[in-house]
Amino acid sequence: MRVLSIGLEKSEKICYNISMKTQNDNIEEKIEKLAAMLVSSRRIVFFGGAGVSTESGIPDFRSKDGLYNQKYDYPPEEILSHGFFYSHTADFFRFYRDKILLSAEPNAAHYALTLIQKYRDLTVVTQNIDGLHQKAGNKKVFELHGTVEKNHCVKCGRFFPLDYIKSRAGVPVCDECGGLVKPDVVLYGEGLDDETVGGALTAISRADLLIVAGTSLSVYPAAGFIGYYGGENSVIINVSPTAFDRRATLCIPAKVGEVLKKASESAFAK
Ligand SMILES: [Zn+2]
Repeated sequence: MRVLSIGLEKSEKICYNISMKTQNDNIEEKIEKLAAMLVSSRRIVFFGGAGVSTESGIPDFRSKDGLYNQKYDYPPEEILSHGFFYSHTADFFRFYRDKILLSAEPNAAHYALTLIQKYRDLTVVTQNIDGLHQKAGNKKVFELHGTVEKNHCVKCGRFFPLDYIKSRAGVPVCDECGGLVKPDVVLYGEGLDDETVGGALTAISRADLLIVAGTSLSVYPAAGFIGYYGGENSVIINVSPTAFDRRATLCIPAKVGEVLKKASESAFAK
């Protein structure tokens, strides 16, 4: 597929290296700009990273105070790998139940998307695996890294819901064939699902508004996905600078939930 980035280049640049104070003064104004973009757009893609889930209390794997700096017998990146899953299955599930299967509720960002999809063609592309978009009622969702909500027996392929993992101690096995039950989560060393990637890229390449939120876009494969966007307006909502800022039409350095709630209500909640 051809990489479309012309729209980003030709767009008016309003992301400057300006002081934080000036930025804060401009946040409300920027939210109104985003609201206007929501109104004028027809096909919107929301591309979300870990920052969307942290607002629901789920720690960011890679942030300074996230999982990767906590102490375990093995680094979390190793525990969450394909090889470790099969070689240290009990350790994997101990960590998985303790640190990944957290009870969390959708936040203002997820619910703002539910509002937007009532008025516009909205596709959510997420790097998160917590299923919170669906829990908030978001309909078109591509989960690049899979989801904790679905699990399959590695032997017979039988499906198991999240409750099956939660309600059992130790290593969950298939009640039909005794095979190992594996979460449909993309582990390190595993490839992304072709159908999910294809759906996400198609939505991105057809969109006329791209909102990238809660991600620094420094982690593969996020940056590559953004390259398929060729629409008019692109917006970054992230508390810290991202690799995409220079190419975006609008950067809003604030919390995703707060920004999306205000913008979506200004645009659609009359
Ligand atoms: Zn089975």
